[in-house]
Amino acid sequence: MDGVVLPAAAEQLLKEIHKTHQETSQIPDNLLIALSFVFGSCAMQALDLLDQHAVTCLSSPSGRQAFQVIGGSGRSYTCFTSCHYCPCPSFAHSVLCKNEDLLCKHILAAYLCQAAGRSQQESVSDQTMSQILASGGTTAP
Ligand SMILES: [Zn+2]
Repeated sequence: MDGVVLPAAAEQLLKEIHKTHQETSQIPDNLLIALSFVFGSCAMQALDLLDQHAVTCLSSPSGRQAFQVIGGSGRSYTCFTSCHYCPCPSFAHSVLCKNEDLLCKHILAAYLCQAAGRSQQESVSDQTMSQILASGGTTAP
C-alpha cells in the first residue's frame, strides 16, 4: 500500500481483517468493533456498502486498479486506494479541509473489499482506465 497516509493502527487493523478473512471467510465482531473505533461512523457505512455489493474493482491489462463505489445517493465514485483519494464531497470536506476523518466511507469500503476479497471484478481496457484516471474519478467509464 504505497503512498497511503493511514495511521499504523488503521493499516494493522486492515491487515488483521485480511488475514482473519482468509482463514475464516468472516470478519469477527471484535475486528468490527475495532474498525468503528478507528474510523468512527465511516466504518458502519462502509460495511453497509460492502453488504449492498456497491463496490466494483476495476482493473486494466497493465495492472492498474481503481474501485468504483456506488454511494447512498446512487452516485458512483471512483476511489484510488493507491493514492488515497475519493472525489466525493465528504472526502473534500471532512478529510482534506477539516482533517476530522481519516477517510470517507467509499475509500474505507474499497479497503475492506480489498481486505476481504469481496468486490465484484470488472476488467476495463487501458484506454478506459486512463480516462478514469485523467478525470479524477468523477465520470463513469
Ligand atoms: Zn468518498
